[in-house]
Amino acid sequence: MRATRTQSAVLAQARGLVTIESVYLGEPGAGEVLLRMEACGVCHSDLFVAGLEKLPLAPLTLGHEGIARVEAVGAGVSDWSPGDRAGITFLGTTCGSCEWCGSGRERFCPRQTNFGYTLHGALTEYAIVPAAALVRVPETLAAAEAAPLCCAGWTAFGALREAGLQRGDSVALFGLGGLGHLALQLAKVQGLRIAGVDVSDDKLHMAREWGAEVAVHGENAGRALQKEYGGVDAALVLTPSASAIHQAFRALKRTGTLVLVGLAMNQYELPLVDTVLKGITVRGSYLGTQQDLVEVFNLAAAGLIRAHVEVHSLDETPAVLERLRRGELMGRAVIAW
Ligand SMILES: [Zn+2]
Ligand SMILES: [Zn+2]
Repeated sequence: MRATRTQSAVLAQARGLVTIESVYLGEPGAGEVLLRMEACGVCHSDLFVAGLEKLPLAPLTLGHEGIARVEAVGAGVSDWSPGDRAGITFLGTTCGSCEWCGSGRERFCPRQTNFGYTLHGALTEYAIVPAAALVRVPETLAAAEAAPLCCAGWTAFGALREAGLQRGDSVALFGLGGLGHLALQLAKVQGLRIAGVDVSDDKLHMAREWGAEVAVHGENAGRALQKEYGGVDAALVLTPSASAIHQAFRALKRTGTLVLVGLAMNQYELPLVDTVLKGITVRGSYLGTQQDLVEVFNLAAAGLIRAHVEVHSLDETPAVLERLRRGELMGRAVIAW
């Protein structure tokens, strides 16, 4: 007989506290699997969810960067078996029949569910989840290093692809945290010229070590990158900051592309004259395609990218979230069991 309870990192209510709670867990129903989590990364979007005025589900187990083993499967589940390795991302189930689901862009499905938001997430030792939402994860990857690929790595890869760059083009990465440190490595694999931008000297130092051509402080990044490159081909804003967007816009060359990724309830006024006369493209980027995620796992399995992680126990989740809020983490903090 399995335990029917699990320890989880739970957000009690909208804008509430995150605490470690014992949560009831039943048996997997039809189409569901029981997972035992190996590791789950802590993402800035967990803070975003925790700061929302309304929650679709409360109390809510957070987390959407999970690496797990299948423990048991419910009725009708034929493509997963006990012992299989499975990944949890932010994208849960999708409708399978809308315009976006039908064109390989299911991440834009209006009827999607999301782990750690509309579904209970992966910051928990055991979880019961819809089998259709799981992704395959290579056996060769260490769980703690694979976890950040499920959100940070996937999102960074998708954003770089949306930027539409060619080998030798220049890209500025605004925000060198969980997403940024993986975007930097991915950009290097793609042969791009990389400018790292952050407000933390430690992260700028790290960016230089990891192959950024230049590393500049966020405050004057626009002017600095105009001077250095005559403007960059693309700027990815990976941090939820309006001032970073402002500087990123200023850093672009004519016909450059601004890719917005970091999430916040912010507004940003688009400079209309420059956008029009310089032919600037502004686009949002959310997660990536299923093929993008496969490629991210393959690059990690080949040793071409590697998440920089610090590993913690579940009990430490509230403290880790606080350090993330203060921008103190290098790379990704991962909870492991
Ligand atoms: Zn995330
Ligand atoms: Zn759909």
